[in-house]
Amino acid sequence: MTSSPTTVSVLRDVRPWGGERSDLHVADGVITAVAPHDAAAPAAGAAGSDGVVDGGGLLALPGLVNAHAHVDKSWWGKPWVSYGGEGGTQGRIAHERAHRDELGIPGVDVTLAVLRESVRTGTTAVRTHVDVDLGVGLRGIEVVREAVAALGGAVHAEIVAFPQDGVLRRPGVLELLDEAAAAGAEHIGGLDPASIDRDPVGQLDGLFAIAEKRGVGIDVHLHDGGDLGAFQIELMIDRTLRAGLQGRVNVAHGFAVGQLAGSRQADLIAAMGEAGITMTTVAPIGAAPLPLLALRAAGVPVGLGTDGIRDLWSPYGTGDLLALTTQLARLSGLRYDEDLVTAARVASADAARFVGREVHDLVVGAPADVVLVDAENVPDAVVRAPRRALVVAGGRVVARHDEVLV
Ligand SMILES: [Zn+2]
Repeated sequence: MTSSPTTVSVLRDVRPWGGERSDLHVADGVITAVAPHDAAAPAAGAAGSDGVVDGGGLLALPGLVNAHAHVDKSWWGKPWVSYGGEGGTQGRIAHERAHRDELGIPGVDVTLAVLRESVRTGTTAVRTHVDVDLGVGLRGIEVVREAVAALGGAVHAEIVAFPQDGVLRRPGVLELLDEAAAAGAEHIGGLDPASIDRDPVGQLDGLFAIAEKRGVGIDVHLHDGGDLGAFQIELMIDRTLRAGLQGRVNVAHGFAVGQLAGSRQADLIAAMGEAGITMTTVAPIGAAPLPLLALRAAGVPVGLGTDGIRDLWSPYGTGDLLALTTQLARLSGLRYDEDLVTAARVASADAARFVGREVHDLVVGAPADVVLVDAENVPDAVVRAPRRALVVAGGRVVARHDEVLV
């Protein structure tokens, strides 16, 4: 660290969403005005210019939102860890449980390393799943909270207490999820209720009972494909409506939605929209892509996330949400300018709900989370994912030209 974060009073001469040159005024970490750029106002460095940061006419996007992360289990920053163990969900679960201790997972230092890397590339808000199981109990959640606090507001985080090792098949895990919810986790997770627990009704009933009792959201990893996956989404729709949890239930991955054909897909998407179910995707290569635009049109918000970044599940992942936005756009076949802008919105402003925010945009009243890139317009930024020139989070400059300042 060679410098400390600057608290911003004015982020001057930036182009929000590629529009006109503007000055963003900031107080207490919040955007208080978006005004046409005033070239006559004191520039950065001039007398009376405390907290003025010059954006040099660069394109401004809201801070990027990683709506599906696992910041408790990355080995980012450590020497290379070779891939091992068996494939498949169960194979990866077993491999992780056998080797995480050797890597200090969960641990504050590993979480800090991957969070700092995320900040470097412009991520300012994260919904992170954190393993809760009979081995680590709730320790992972404490670790993630400690790491987030150490970054002093550079990353806003919401936590999903995540039963990575299964729920009903591991007696005691439901109680741990309940404890996590009581202790402040914003969501509880689930995992392939059919193929992991082999009791989809049982797992979902257990999760929904906790959500109703504690007022938390539900975020279920659903890899199960085709009709088996669709059936479980239908179970979630029924329970969401019955419990009045519209807007609080998320399907992560949901490969089945991309696999269903024609009217079966359309009907399921319409029912999800009516029940206020949301989805998160990691834009996976090799899976049937989610029908991104159709989901949004049906009122199903879609968030974008990295999933694990360089962990015992896979050596892949860099945490760069903008590069992942390029991948999402390509896999979704997006080419028109307005669709490429939509991809950028999925990765930022439209993901506010996934991190518990009312608004996350370059507008008055939003947290002052801003990423500057040297791009002609938003479509150019999405297809090229240029280097992040400046990252502001909570009204402080937290990264500049690849140097993380927190
Ligand atoms: Zn995941």
